[in-house]
Amino acid sequence: MSVVQQVLAPLFQPGSPYCLPSHPCFPPPSAFAALNSSLTGRLIVPEPTACVAGEGAPSLCEDAEWRVQQPGAVQFINFETGWQSDNTTVPVDEDHSRHRLPSYVVQATHVDDVQRAVAFAAAHRLRLRIKNTGHDYLGRSSAHGSFTLWTTGLNSTAFHPAFVPEGAPTGYDDGEPALVVGSGVRVKQLYEAADQAGVIVPGGVSASVGAAGGFVLGGGHGPLAPLLGLAADHVLEFTVVTSNATIVKASPFSNPSLFKALRGGGPAFGVVTEVALRAHTPPKGFVGIFGTFKIKYGVEKSVADEAWKGLIQEWVALQPKVSDAGPFAGYTYVRRPLAVPFAYVLPSDDLDLAKSTFQSFITHADNDPSVELNISFAEEKTWHAMWAGQFEAALFDLDEVGINLLLGGRLVPEDVVRHNTTDLADFLSQSKTPAIVHLVAGGAVKNDPYYPSSVNPRWRTALLHIDLPVSWPRDSPPASIHAMESYLTQHTLALGKIASAGGIPEGAYSSEANYHEKEWQGTWYGEENYQSLLEAKREWDPQGVFSGRKVVGSEFVGH
Ligand SMILES: Cc1cc2nc3c(=O)[nH]c(=O)nc-3n(C[C@H](O)[C@H](O)[C@H](O)COP(=O)(O)OP(=O)(O)OC[C@H]3O[C@@H](n4cnc5c(N)ncnc54)[C@H](O)[C@@H]3O)c2cc1C
Repeated sequence: MSVVQQVLAPLFQPGSPYCLPSHPCFPPPSAFAALNSSLTGRLIVPEPTACVAGEGAPSLCEDAEWRVQQPGAVQFINFETGWQSDNTTVPVDEDHSRHRLPSYVVQATHVDDVQRAVAFAAAHRLRLRIKNTGHDYLGRSSAHGSFTLWTTGLNSTAFHPAFVPEGAPTGYDDGEPALVVGSGVRVKQLYEAADQAGVIVPGGVSASVGAAGGFVLGGGHGPLAPLLGLAADHVLEFTVVTSNATIVKASPFSNPSLFKALRGGGPAFGVVTEVALRAHTPPKGFVGIFGTFKIKYGVEKSVADEAWKGLIQEWVALQPKVSDAGPFAGYTYVRRPLAVPFAYVLPSDDLDLAKSTFQSFITHADNDPSVELNISFAEEKTWHAMWAGQFEAALFDLDEVGINLLLGGRLVPEDVVRHNTTDLADFLSQSKTPAIVHLVAGGAVKNDPYYPSSVNPRWRTALLHIDLPVSWPRDSPPASIHAMESYLTQHTLALGKIASAGGIPEGAYSSEANYHEKEWQGTWYGEENYQSLLEAKREWDPQGVFSGRKVVGSEFVGH
């Protein structure tokens, strides 16, 4: 613990356990009945989904949107059940099933509902969780016995051609275009609303991920990030329900410490109900580059291994060239022996530039008889047409849900990709498990944001964000899950060693990171940001009304 952390620690209320259904302090049924009437019947006692109860895996269980709509579900089943090698206190029922289920879920459709829920949770010291879509890779939108606020119903969208943030001084300027969205709005709705307004805003790839909840609070990368920057850097104003259940606006001019903390500091400071995102004039067109590559079946092993190594080396070397050529973004699902899918976008109508940029890779593949490459180029006039038409579908394989899953990951600096290309390529080509390589940094992500931000500074120097997912079958014995988790941690640290070879400290994207990360404060938020995040936590939520595993201040207020 650093000196500042030691000084701040006593200023938090001691980390006291939350009141769970089995504790005497848990409110009586009459208190919940009164809350339910004030919510006009939108207090739900959730059931485990049939998927968790082991009654087969109907296709719905693997449907992200269906999981968003189930009050007791999140996207990954390990965060619904707990898992035996995890040391959380998830009880085992008489029928040996484990449910990491909320005790109650408040279905919020209006900011008043959020205020009632926060006031109730704070008064009764409940384990408050916020589920928007349940995509959290650290399971923070769910917890055993939690009192969960479900925010998908806060889904308004409105375009403002001249938005002025709260508190802006007179004569600040005439405002700027912004899309104001409820925190329950998902990526699909965000892109639709932006398209209707004739603008572009930063969002993610997957339709069902929230665009203005955990995504924006953690940073928010996406296919337009190299052109526009990260989503968190685009927020002009948050509307927030704070730990004392009041509604505040947080902007550069009103409650600036909260504004700064929410821009990348994660989900620890309040419930965001609305976000105003700076909007931009779109380019004239978009070029998509889609395809797969693989080593052909039947090639002799030593030849195939060399070909695979050379292919990945060439692909890694391509990334800085692509980034230099324009604000391309791209995603590659490196895995073997299956075909490796990739999808890139150039936000421009310059088809020739896209083709010439990928030519060196095409030539490499053409010259190696062991390699099979399929590549196509597509043009669209609008981002919505590109995303909805091809981009999302091309990456569908990356988005498997309804399974057990943990991730590791590191941000890889541009210098390392350029100068330690072989080390990085060897890591990827030798990986026993898949790696998802995101070219979502560089370009505008590098720029210092116009207003103060808590985005991990490692994003400013990164070119790639690499995720390392691991998954296991439902009936895996605890020992094999444990072995998988140890492997994940070692594998993540090995990538971190390569990523920090140029002297830039290791960093990871907190929203897509390892549940077991040890030095999470510095790695996910940046040492230089973490102290000011703790100070904001103490200012806005010293009693830990908002908490969760490894969120800012959880080391003091518990979770
Ligand atoms: C399939 C998939 C695809 C993804 N793609 C991308 C991507 O393209 N780019 C990217 O940057 N990330 C991506 N992510 C990661 C994603 O950004 C995070 O999982 C993010 O936290 C999801 O936010 P959510 O609100 O949708 O989900 P939730 O799991 O509901 O919430 C995530 C966290 O934010 C908190 N939270 C949610 N809403 C609020 C609110 N209104 N106020 C305060 N706290 C809140 C929750 O309590 C939880 O801790 C992806 C994840 C998955 C599973």
